[in-house]
Amino acid sequence: MPAPMQIYNTLSRRVEELEPLEPGHVRLYTCGPTVYDYAHIGNFRAYVWEDLLRRALKLAGFRVTQVMNITDIEDKIIKKMNDENLTLEQATQPYVDAFFEDIDTLRIERAEHYPRATDHIREMLQIASALRDRGLTYESQGSLYFKIDSFDGYGRLSNLENREVMSGARVDSDEYGKDDARDFVLWKGHREGEVSWPSPFGEGRPGWHLECSAMAMKYLGESFDLHTGGVDNIFPHHENEIAQSEGATGKPFVRYWMHVAHLMVDGEKMAKSKGNFYTLRDLLERGHAPRAIRLLLLGTYYRGSLNFTFEGLAKATSEVQRLDDMAARLEREPAGSDGHDEAFDARIEERVAEFKRALAADLNISSALGAVFGTVREAHQALDRGELPSGSREQLASAMDVFQSVLDLAAETDAGLDEEVEALIEQRNAARKAKNFAESDRIRAELTARGILLEDTPQGTVWKRKL
Ligand code: AMP
Ligand code: ZN
Repeated sequence: MPAPMQIYNTLSRRVEELEPLEPGHVRLYTCGPTVYDYAHIGNFRAYVWEDLLRRALKLAGFRVTQVMNITDIEDKIIKKMNDENLTLEQATQPYVDAFFEDIDTLRIERAEHYPRATDHIREMLQIASALRDRGLTYESQGSLYFKIDSFDGYGRLSNLENREVMSGARVDSDEYGKDDARDFVLWKGHREGEVSWPSPFGEGRPGWHLECSAMAMKYLGESFDLHTGGVDNIFPHHENEIAQSEGATGKPFVRYWMHVAHLMVDGEKMAKSKGNFYTLRDLLERGHAPRAIRLLLLGTYYRGSLNFTFEGLAKATSEVQRLDDMAARLEREPAGSDGHDEAFDARIEERVAEFKRALAADLNISSALGAVFGTVREAHQALDRGELPSGSREQLASAMDVFQSVLDLAAETDAGLDEEVEALIEQRNAARKAKNFAESDRIRAELTARGILLEDTPQGTVWKRKL
């Protein structure tokens, strides 16, 4: 049985224990990218946090089936096609490819399914038809609308007050605010110059909200456990997903909803439309390390907003460096003795328990990171005292494995490169002994160019990888 996991449920506005419909198996839907441009690091705050959630669930012992949709038909995509005279494929495929490259760069574990909206038009039309058959829709000027006052629970997730709901008035755009809580479009009637599909309601294309309901229910069932996204998705997107799905099936759609707060820049949400954004590629070009960006996005409790600054990124970089330094030191300094330091082992065991407890408490990442860096400190202290026997090193290594199964911040090891570096360091030492400083400088420069930094210490030359 998995260990209990407490999460804050947006729907109940309380911290609750996550109890999946099928014991031990969490079915999770995470709203994915709209592929008309590169995702910015605000989007990646959401995806990296969802990766933390997924990995924390797995650490607690749950099996996870995760779906992340690819929105490849939506208002912004249509606009791009028209502005730049592109086919749907030309407008979207480069950004689908970029998205997968970026999630690999950030070490976001792959979901089980990445369905694309355009491959699920049939499922969307089935939901729309079911809604029409149940009398929850009406047609106007070739489009099909959801009548929000026909669905009792409308507004429950976003705490929308009755007086704010304006049924009878309509909204056609995929994105809108609470001020526009009106009947929303399920199927948009064909307009000149737009891609379209045939349907029982005439030629047209799906509304964005319908897309997620169809893909979620196809892969996870009509009722499933957990649905996430950024807080900007609560209204209207998730509110509309609930109305459509429950309206069509008559069953509860999702039991738990979790939402991540925004990545901000100078007090404002990072957003394409505001122009205040960095893509992952922007930061990599400036020389920042993917692992540091991952830690920066991961390291703040998800329900609080996170202000993006380069100082914050520098701090994350030095924290990742601390993890690397400890790993390098353990490799460099052989164990002096066999056996265990019992007191050390007990402290490490407690840190691991603390890490798990923190993540199970609504993903309290600050405490979890406290346990990790506390462990790093203990390890340095034990090494400084020259008291880390081989059994305790193994204990430490398995603790780090638990941490890294969730954080995934360890340096990639490359045994071939390591050997080459060691050989070059030997050559450099020989050159220095022979007072051939030109040669020793050349070797240092060659290593620097390959991202390897040398430091000459009283114990000899040590090296580390530039992040
Ligand atoms: P979009 O492509 O705009 O639909 O966004 C994809 C995901 O990123 C959604 O879950 C959004 O809620 C989330 N998102 C967008 N901007 C931000 C931001 N500045 N901070 C955190 N999450 C964001
Ligand atoms: Zn969605």
